[in-house]
Formats: sequence, C-alpha cells, structure tokens
Amino acid sequence: MAHVVVVGGGFAGVWSAAGAALARGAADLRITLIAPGEHLVLRPRLYEPEPALAKVELGRILTPIGVEHLGASVSTIDTGRRMVVADGAEIGYDRLVLAAGSRLVRPRDLPGAERLFDIDTLDGACRLADHLRDRRDRTAVVVGAGFVGLEAATALAARGRVLLVDRSAVVGDQLGPGPRGEIESALDELGVERRFGTTVTEVGDGAKVEADAVVWCAGITASELTRQISGDFDDLGRVPVDRQLRALPEVFAAGDTAAAAFDAGHTVMQACRHATPMGKVAGHNAAADLLGVPLRDFTPGPYVTCLDLGGAGAVFTRGWDRRAMASGVAGKEVKQRINQHIHPPVDDAAKILAAADRVHLELPFFPRDE
Ligand SMILES: Cc1cc2nc3c(=O)[nH]c(=O)nc-3n(C[C@H](O)[C@H](O)[C@H](O)COP(=O)(O)OP(=O)(O)OC[C@H]3O[C@@H](n4cnc5c(N)ncnc54)[C@H](O)[C@@H]3O)c2cc1C
Repeated sequence: MAHVVVVGGGFAGVWSAAGAALARGAADLRITLIAPGEHLVLRPRLYEPEPALAKVELGRILTPIGVEHLGASVSTIDTGRRMVVADGAEIGYDRLVLAAGSRLVRPRDLPGAERLFDIDTLDGACRLADHLRDRRDRTAVVVGAGFVGLEAATALAARGRVLLVDRSAVVGDQLGPGPRGEIESALDELGVERRFGTTVTEVGDGAKVEADAVVWCAGITASELTRQISGDFDDLGRVPVDRQLRALPEVFAAGDTAAAAFDAGHTVMQACRHATPMGKVAGHNAAADLLGVPLRDFTPGPYVTCLDLGGAGAVFTRGWDRRAMASGVAGKEVKQRINQHIHPPVDDAAKILAAADRVHLELPFFPRDE
C-alpha cells in the first residue's frame, strides 16, 4: 500500500495528516505522522500563565481519521531511497511532508546562557511558569521586543516588574510602525520598563539587573531537517516550495519549514496563521499525487496578526503594513477568539475532515477594512 509520511506534529503536521486523510477518501493509502510528543502544542498560547493547558492529544485528532502516530524523532531523510530514520528505525515513504517546524535560536557564546528561560516549547514555558509561580515581587528580563517577546513581557507584567531589552532602537522593529503606537501605550500602561539599543552580554548572578528570570525571545529558525532535502534555503532556514507546496518530486513542505510565496513581494510568515492552511494543502497534495486526484494550489488568505498585550488588551492588524484595526478590549476579544479557533476539532472524524477541507479559516469576527 502506498505510504504518506508526515514529519512533525504541530499545526502544519496535524493538518497535513488531515489533508491527506481527506484526499484519501475510501482509497487504500497508509498515512503516518511521526513526532516525538503525544500532543499538538498550541505554541501561540505559550505566553499564557498556565501554558500546560496549551496542548491537544494527537490521538484525539489522528485516530478518528485513520492516521497512525509514531512517537519518534526523525534524524535522517534519505530522498534517494525514499525513507526516513526515526529513533533508529527506517521507514519508507512514497510521499513525504516535512512539517518539523522551527525552534528558538539560543545564543551560543553568551556567558550564562544555560540560565535562560524561554516560551518556545511547552517544556520551556512550563519551566518558566513553575520557576516564577511562588515568587513575590519578582523581576523578569525579557530579551527581544518582537512578537513573542512582547507577548511574554506584557503577560509577565501582571505578576511583577518586567524589563524589556532589545538591541533595536525601537519596539517591535520587525512589526513596523503600524501597531507601534498601540504597543508603546500598552507598555506604558503596564509599567514595562524598556532598554532599546541594548545588547545583553552576560546572564549571571550579581548582574547589573537583578532578575528572577531572563526570558530569551530573540529569533527562530526552521528545523535542520530542511538541509537534508535542499541545499537552497532562506535566511530563516526554510526550504523553497512551489504553489502546490512541493519541494522535491516526492517531498512537500509546510509550516515553519517552508518558504512559500504569499504574493509577488512576500513569503509566508513563520506563523500558525500560515502553517495551518499550508498543512491542509501539502497533505492533500501528497496523497492526491499518489491517487491521481487533482492537486490544490496554496492561495493564502489576507495577512492578519493579533498581538496579545496582557492587561492592556491586544492589537489586531491587517495587511503587510500591519494597520491596527482593533486594539485594547476590542483587540483582546479578537485574540481570545483566535486562541479558541486554533484548537482543532477532536474525536469526530467528520468535523476534522470538514475543517481540513476549509483551507482558509472563516473568521467572521475579524474587523474589516471598510
Ligand atoms: C509564544 C509564541 C507565540 C506565537 N504567537 C503566534 C500568533 O499569535 N499567531 C501565529 O500565527 N503564530 C504564532 N506563533 C508561531 C506559531 O506557533 C508557529 O508558526 C507554528 O507553531 C508553526 O507550526 P509548525 O507545525 O510549522 O511547527 P511547530 O509548531 O514548531 O511544530 C513542529 C512539530 O515537529 C515536531 N518535530 C520537530 N523536529 C522533529 C523531528 N526531527 N522529527 C519528528 N518531529 C519533529 C515537533 O515535535 C512538533 O510536533 C507563536 C509562537 C510562539 C512560540
């Protein structure tokens, strides 16, 4: 029986598996998802005070739709022999979907780097939450004033002093000027201290800023597995894919590993907002390619973001210039609805497959331009 193998159990991997199951219909096709953990981690919610809740059992999504889960980590992809090595075992594939995601780039040469906390993984976010749980009047330093650092800093501000540090001269440098006013007002309202144009040079005891935790939020890169399918990758470590999300004749890629075109001037962001529809398309196409069913093009919906700003609400933006469409309480309502919306349906094959068929999320709650 032909075999589709999906590497990764994040948004891109889970939705690839569901997309492949949708295309399979009643045909004979084996689908296996390989990921080391038992859960889909809802990474966009890891800034929340109880990150342990930001997960969904993979079995509740995969079992109803007839997808096998192999709890293992892939170390090798051999595209010549069409097989992967997972925890030492060779597994053959006819089509592969690479959806192994991304990881935080930890500083290698920073003295004391081993003391850094992060909210990049479920384990990392839980370790930070446990470390700070019973400390009173605590101080946290957040390094990196981009999307993740801002969500971390504003969430931590509810429970103590926060210092936000970035080597850029302005807050949210990569987010551009669109939402900057809203972000600065929120940081003022929450009393988040800022040091911009500042590089952290050491993390240790008796440092110049006494902190209970230093949270590293500066930069992510795609899984190193991309290097095994292409010698060509972008500055985020992602492999180029075509409109059908194909990287090689028998390999598709989705989510944070794939540099898909968004429009003439942009590639997709490393974001759940893009990983989910990419997964649906890549998985569908991997199965469709084997079954002789027409393939789908990846046609991204409008680019939107919603940045949580803790007790100061959230800012919802639209377009690549990130025009602020809603902020404060109204922005927070959008964020809360998104955070519910990213939770996939469970235990019900019909609902899971119907969601896999809706490549673009219906988000009627997004405020419109007009
Ligand atoms: C704090 C935070 C807030 C965020 N907020 C937002 C937001 O508001 N909006 C938004 O759109 N995005 C947000 N993101 C980004 C978003 O979470 C990612 O873009 C998204 O998770 C990418 O999905 P993915 O499936 O490609 O990768 P991942 O979520 O990284 O999943 C990768 C999967 O692959 C598995 N894996 C890795 N290596 C291997 C291997 N060698 N073998 C087998 N399996 C492997 C992992 O275990 C995991 O299951 C946020 C991220 C963080 C950390």
